[in-house]
Amino acid sequence: MADCLFCKIIAGEIPSKKVYEDEYCYAFEDIAPVAPVHVLFVPKKHISSAAELDGENSAVVAKIYEAIARVAAEMKLDGGWRVVTNCGPDAGQTVLHLHFHLIGGRPLGVMVSEK
Ligand code: AMP
Ligand code: ZN
Repeated sequence: MADCLFCKIIAGEIPSKKVYEDEYCYAFEDIAPVAPVHVLFVPKKHISSAAELDGENSAVVAKIYEAIARVAAEMKLDGGWRVVTNCGPDAGQTVLHLHFHLIGGRPLGVMVSEK
């Protein structure tokens, strides 16, 4: 998609620190990490958000979760880790290309801390 930040990162038009790549997904370090490990996993095919998932495109989510589990193991996040997907403005989604935050490397506290 022409004006999508993550599509440009996948295409190599904008630099990123690659962590993992396969046929279905690309993973790179978040530019503003909230924990020692903060990696973004994105489908190579543009999907705007989790709200756009359906029977035609959702298989990529399973592939991405497989990749997340593999990277978490490689990074030795043995104490646990969290995956977050923000969807829409109330959740604070800022980039309209589906992505999964893998966060870990320290105790992460409660999942939702603000009211
Ligand atoms: P979200 O707020 O869930 O849409 O997440 C978007 C994430 O993308 C944020 O955590 C940003 O720090 C991250 N981000 C924005 N621009 C870049 C970039 N050029 N490279 C890596 N991560 C980025
Ligand atoms: Zn995109």
